[in-house]
Amino acid sequence: MTTPVGKFREKSREAMASPLLGPALKNATDKFIAGRLGTLPQLGEPESLKQEAREVKVRCIARLDQLTAQFAESYRARGGQVHFAADAQEARQILLSIARENAVKLVAKSKSMATEEIEINHFLEGQGIEVVETDLGEYIIQLAKEKPSHIITPAIHKTKEQVSSLFHEKLGTPETPDISEMTRTAKRVLRNVFLKADMGVTGANFAVAETGTLTLVTNEGNGRMVTSLPRIHVAVVGIEKIVEKLSDVPPLLKVLPASATGQKITVYFSIISGPRRPGETDGPEQSHVILLDNGRIDMLGGDYRESLYCIRCGACLNVCPVYQAVGGHSYGGTYPGPIGAVVTPLLHEEDAKYPSALPQASSLCGACRDACPVKIDLPRMLVSLRHDGVLHPAGGFSARVTGMAEGVAFRFWAWAAKSPARFHQAAKLMRWLFKLPGFKGLVRFFPPASGWAFARELPEFPERFGWEE
Ligand code: SF4
Repeated sequence: MTTPVGKFREKSREAMASPLLGPALKNATDKFIAGRLGTLPQLGEPESLKQEAREVKVRCIARLDQLTAQFAESYRARGGQVHFAADAQEARQILLSIARENAVKLVAKSKSMATEEIEINHFLEGQGIEVVETDLGEYIIQLAKEKPSHIITPAIHKTKEQVSSLFHEKLGTPETPDISEMTRTAKRVLRNVFLKADMGVTGANFAVAETGTLTLVTNEGNGRMVTSLPRIHVAVVGIEKIVEKLSDVPPLLKVLPASATGQKITVYFSIISGPRRPGETDGPEQSHVILLDNGRIDMLGGDYRESLYCIRCGACLNVCPVYQAVGGHSYGGTYPGPIGAVVTPLLHEEDAKYPSALPQASSLCGACRDACPVKIDLPRMLVSLRHDGVLHPAGGFSARVTGMAEGVAFRFWAWAAKSPARFHQAAKLMRWLFKLPGFKGLVRFFPPASGWAFARELPEFPERFGWEE
């Protein structure tokens, strides 16, 4: 759900007031940043690795229509079933009919942003089907009845003490600061889920058109259990995850874990090749893949095509000063941080409508672009979305997103800037105002400066601009 105007500010103020959130985020993002910077050079020259990964995505997204058809054909040839979902609602209905046809009562889920995007947990539970998240972070979030706040580490906003209290309250375990003990508790609970589940639901990191295979990177091994133990496996895959051939995977796999968690490779890397074949001892009886559009096809043709190169590593979140300050929940949608600020207004998330506040949630410092392993120019797209917002018939950005006073201030600036004489007079007026006793203090209380000056020192107005005589 796109964060409407006002909600982002409200939520981010609440987030910044939390004494625990800032340190928890700083601790985790500092580690991820150090990991990425330390690991990438061990794998090769970082800019060359990024360029190679980007070239794979550029080539595959350019042929996405053909590759989607090829993937469907190859996956069916392996005995799997392929479904196409135009939006989240269609994807949920497909999933429900597979579950109903097979009398599914319990679903074991592996971490997947595409399934978060279509919000299946709540939906299936409303239909009487139990869903259990099996990634530890997702399991914690599910117990807390919250949404993930980071693409890679969904419970990044929680301290170990908070998790311990949650386990105590929901599972009846004694409170402990010992993370290994908490992990053992979760393992005990989840082992039963793997064994009893009728259906396993995952996403996929890459879907290979040539071979009809899905690949999955995990650190806990739950992805492997979810795809092989239940009698039915369903993968919900955004169409942008399709690559042409198996040899496209290594360049992407080199930069994904390194950029995400600072690992050279994740603990598990699974290649999933359809249902169990005669003579095989494990694997699901049925394998389905739901190829999800949900706004992606619309992104192919315009200014935002680059966002389809995203491999969901989370590096842009870790370096973003806005994300570091407000955390993931302030963004409101499935995807937080700079990539979320770009894709959330573009995906067909329910209630999504302009003007969205999210493109404003950036200082445009460019740290996200520098960190991105596929060199996505996120600041360019954020500026472009702001521009679209201004032109949108829903009312104009200045009035609906940034407030009336800021709109008036910018109109005044534009009027003054069109004439050197007017600009000169306006500069003189501002200098005079800034010298009035108490003016700077007063400005803090009135928009548009009040928001900016809320936590900053208002600078002096320059005595002279370079172009002034
Ligand atoms: S935009 Fe780039 S840095 Fe951000 S999640 Fe996607 S791939 Fe990672």
